[in-house]
Amino acid sequence: MAPFNIKTCARPNILALEPYRCARDDYKDDGTNILLDANENAYGPSLSSLSSTNFNSLHRYPDPHQASLKQALCNLRTTHAHTSRTLTPENCFVGVGSDEAIDALLRCFCVPGIDRILVCPPTYGMYSVSAHINDVGLIKVPLLPAPSFALDTSSIISTLSTSPNIKLAYFCSPGNPTGSLLAKSDIAAILGHETWNGVVVVDEAYIDFAPDEASLAEWVTEWPNLVVMQTLSKGFGMAGIRLGAVFASPEIATLLNNMKAPYNISTPTAALASLALSDAGLAVMRAHRTKIVEQRDRLVRELPKIEGVGRLRGGEMSNFLLFEMLDKDGKPDNVTALAVYERLAEAKGVVVRFRGKEHGCLGCLRITVGTEEETTRLLEALAKTLAEVHGQGGPEEDEEKKETEANDVIA
Ligand SMILES: *Cc1c(COP(=O)(O)O)cnc(C)c1O
Repeated sequence: MAPFNIKTCARPNILALEPYRCARDDYKDDGTNILLDANENAYGPSLSSLSSTNFNSLHRYPDPHQASLKQALCNLRTTHAHTSRTLTPENCFVGVGSDEAIDALLRCFCVPGIDRILVCPPTYGMYSVSAHINDVGLIKVPLLPAPSFALDTSSIISTLSTSPNIKLAYFCSPGNPTGSLLAKSDIAAILGHETWNGVVVVDEAYIDFAPDEASLAEWVTEWPNLVVMQTLSKGFGMAGIRLGAVFASPEIATLLNNMKAPYNISTPTAALASLALSDAGLAVMRAHRTKIVEQRDRLVRELPKIEGVGRLRGGEMSNFLLFEMLDKDGKPDNVTALAVYERLAEAKGVVVRFRGKEHGCLGCLRITVGTEEETTRLLEALAKTLAEVHGQGGPEEDEEKKETEANDVIA
């Protein structure tokens, strides 16, 4: 036998890695479930037709530069609301979803084992998973409590002053799972930090659901230390093609483009992304957004009328909402929320996301806004499920077991 031992050969941080978990690890898409767990766009892709796609050149490698796709992204995000300057393809990097960009920025700026990133929980899980993979430490400065979920700007600024080796700060706006848009003045205060030599990364995955001109993408033409990430996965309903975009100074964009695999964006992905960003695609995206906002407003009205549903936490700037589930005494409760999450999926075929273990999210479910019919089914299923969960009240040791289960859930 060769002396190979995976336990001593593989990197310790990879052996210890807790991978990114999604609700779909528990409940697969069997074609009948209503999937309200991953903030996808239930109305479908922003494509009016596929007729102009041409796949006759699939035997050739794709374009390594994607200049016309980048130009389309720049045209969309140049609003002149935050600066009179104009984004150009030199400000862009495109990757395999924003997940590639999250990882590329870490590899670009952070020396493994030495440098660290700052994150503000509750936030998107991939920042910490990518940091662990790269052996990069995490500094956490939680968001202010719900419902504002605003940046704790003074703590962030003092942490950046006193904790050494922080190279990146990842902020999510609108936040996942908070649904709150961060204040531009808070981001400006951090960008203007007097001593910190690092980069502010603003993840705008849900920006298409926020008010027009909320995106800070064009601000990268003013701030060399700002990076804005976006994706076609959410507002554009194109999660399946894996297209993420970074806006940055030409200097940072050049580093990211130098690092990437040469043909990271496939020909079909580039073609479909260009269609989604065409005038016809944008019209479809905006029509879908209008419908999502209608159903979101409906959920904000109807959910609190259900016995056992607590407060809306966070904001209404995304295609999902964060709501508390209450125990029989009317208190937000993780045992109840986890039981509701499981029963909704197993008995009713409605998959949402349990977020009760996230900082400041006690008892919370994150519910993606679906179609009108899906919303109707969700509201009925949730009312019945909560009544069942409240009705059953098992023996003491049963409750204890569920509490342990609730603590074990990483998702
Ligand atoms: C969904 C999501 C992403 C993932 O985007 P991809 O482009 O699909 O990789 C990034 N950031 C946040 C906050 C998200 O919720």
